[in-house]
Amino acid sequence: LFVTFEGGEGAGKSTQIRLLAEALRTRDHRVLVTREPGGSPGAEAVRHVILSGAAERYGTRMEALLFAAARNDHVEEVIRPALRSGTVVLCDRFLDSSRVYQGITGNLEPAFIERLQMVAINGVMPDCTLILDLPAAEGLDRARRRAAGPSAEGEPDRFEREEIETHEKRREAFLELAEREPFRCRVVDATQTREAIASQILSIVEPLLPL
Ligand code: C5P
Repeated sequence: LFVTFEGGEGAGKSTQIRLLAEALRTRDHRVLVTREPGGSPGAEAVRHVILSGAAERYGTRMEALLFAAARNDHVEEVIRPALRSGTVVLCDRFLDSSRVYQGITGNLEPAFIERLQMVAINGVMPDCTLILDLPAAEGLDRARRRAAGPSAEGEPDRFEREEIETHEKRREAFLELAEREPFRCRVVDATQTREAIASQILSIVEPLLPL
């Protein structure tokens, strides 16, 4: 079973992935938690290039190609082998992030992005995609607090420095994606308490689990 988590900054994806992984492990499922950009040695190397400002330096088209290279390596080296062995794979961001970040707010043609994704995923489509939805202002607030707090991951990266309108646009784009693929994508209200979000997510994923 392949489950991906999507949403804007500060939506709580990493917390919810951790909680779902714990819940599944106590139910005796083998679980792999991974993330993008990154998740395999090759993709982590590309992650550094991307997050250090590939789009500013080389343009968004180059950035989209780097994301695709990283995703393909991640799929072939990590995700596909794990799925083959019956492991439940939980991935923080996947192709829908590229559709939204590089496609919609990166202004790249949808057909180009779609072609790239088909090459990148090479047939490994998520079975279920959880879209953690919350107003952009709220997510940015949380992301900023995280960046300033004692558990800071560092300075806010270039994505977190963007305008609120850009974040709102992405939120709309994720919701549109969910409407286009209602069978795969489920929207979860990320303004709820973390426990409420976790139990909603578990109720979505549980019926999909292998026996
Ligand atoms: O998941 P997280 O928010 O930590 O992702 C790291 C950064 O990479 C984010 O700021 C996100 O906006 C950006 N990103 C992107 N395009 C993707 C995936 C992530 O711009 N396809």
